[in-house]
Amino acid sequence: MLQDGLDGRSFFGEAAQGLTYDDFILLPGHIDFSVDEVSLATRVSRRIPLKAPLVSSPMDTVTESTMAIYLALLGGIGVLHYNCTVAEQVEQLRRVKRFENGFITDPICLSPEHTIADVDAIKQRHGFSSIPVTEDGRLGSRLVGLVTNRDIDLETDRTKKLRDVMTRDLLWARQGVALEEANEILRRSKKGKLPIVDEQGRLVALVTRRDLLKNREFPDATKDSTTKRLKVGAAVSTREEDRERIDALLEAGADLLVIDAAQGDSIYQLETIRYIKDRSEAVDVVGGNVVTMRQARRLIEAGVDALRVGMGPGSICITQETMAVGRAQASAVYHVASLAREYDVPVIADGGVRTIGHLVKALAIGGATVMLGSMLAGTKEAPGEYFYENGVRVKRYRGMASLEAMEQGGGKRYLADRQRIRVAQGVSGTVVDKGSILDYVPYVLQGVRHALQDLGCRDLATLHNRLQGGELRFERRSAAAQAEGNVHGLFSWQEPPYGSRTRWAR
Ligand code: IMP
Repeated sequence: MLQDGLDGRSFFGEAAQGLTYDDFILLPGHIDFSVDEVSLATRVSRRIPLKAPLVSSPMDTVTESTMAIYLALLGGIGVLHYNCTVAEQVEQLRRVKRFENGFITDPICLSPEHTIADVDAIKQRHGFSSIPVTEDGRLGSRLVGLVTNRDIDLETDRTKKLRDVMTRDLLWARQGVALEEANEILRRSKKGKLPIVDEQGRLVALVTRRDLLKNREFPDATKDSTTKRLKVGAAVSTREEDRERIDALLEAGADLLVIDAAQGDSIYQLETIRYIKDRSEAVDVVGGNVVTMRQARRLIEAGVDALRVGMGPGSICITQETMAVGRAQASAVYHVASLAREYDVPVIADGGVRTIGHLVKALAIGGATVMLGSMLAGTKEAPGEYFYENGVRVKRYRGMASLEAMEQGGGKRYLADRQRIRVAQGVSGTVVDKGSILDYVPYVLQGVRHALQDLGCRDLATLHNRLQGGELRFERRSAAAQAEGNVHGLFSWQEPPYGSRTRWAR
């Protein structure tokens, strides 16, 4: 009997070649609901639910505290990279945990011994000139004053110490104050800044009028229901010396530990899983990376709470070319997710996603979440500064196994850090400015909702059930079909907000 397309099992199971996202298209379903009714709720791991199926890569040009904070506010989760000292990674984690919407929990402070010139320098770099003054110039030390523009703008001697110009008669609020209350105090006093202090008078945060004005609600935020703290993941290596890192991250309250290894089926990984599981029952462990069912089974049996899938599809990755080992990403995700489903272990489709369509496909073939590197690296929340390359505003984006990143310790993922000769498995480059994820991610998620509506699925559970049940239908895309499916035959055209596939893919 003539049928539309193939079910997932026949399509991927019987394919003679490894397939990836561009190789297939999903056939539409029946729509009986509006796009607003689509839910993208999922789980990144057994015990961590998310409202948005997005995870940011543990790479030093993608995820530090700012990315982790804002992605969690939007319903996803960030994984802090480990290309830094244990203390630095723990500090990044603490920043995420300290974050409270509307409160600046890392305000820049100065001491009474600093000068007006120091305020000028901060103003030039960050654009603000109202700065709390604490006894030793650090957060967590006793608040002694506040210096504002009005204290210093007419002063000609810029070498004057802050102790001689700062305002000492301060308006402040006690730690624990609700945001609405802080809001009200600022409104009544007509002041611009409200320092928040603890019982001993030590500065713990700052509320600013400017931030209040642009403050918004994040109903989908990934946070602990009792502590209200944002959830965050952190990457660790399988190296013996990273046991100290694991201990410190657990102590600091990591919700998810991601064992970062290019080839996850190793004795080192099994030992690391055991180590973490022995230390903590609360933390969820992500094992990987894997691309075959055999690799996946071993890690599932060792007790992982999620699997990270992908070997070689990353935009900065040359593993498949250099090592000749890996797998086309769609085949990898489909196979691993099919097995993992039997054990109720969620799968993170990691790498190779550069469009909303790829993201949808990754979810449709069994991914519970999708891990993004290049798609997020050009956003304001990613580490690093923007600069211009041939007139285009860009940010640096590099593979953790690029020679440049390995110099700083990134090679642990590839077991290359102790080698005298290091073989690069990644490159270093740039990505185009995408603005803030506060605009970009909602745009991407809305695109995914529309796709689910086209597929006739109200939520990801339905999508996965239809995949397994064979109702979700797949068709192979020839090269001509791929050309047909993109802009063609035009002399010129207007780019959509975040670029068409052609532009980002180059
Ligand atoms: P992207 O989203 O396609 O840019 O891929 C990001 C993913 O690439 C990461 O989450 C890692 O799994 C992987 N990756 C990171 N650095 C390297 C590298 O240097 N070589 C190979 N893969 C990498």
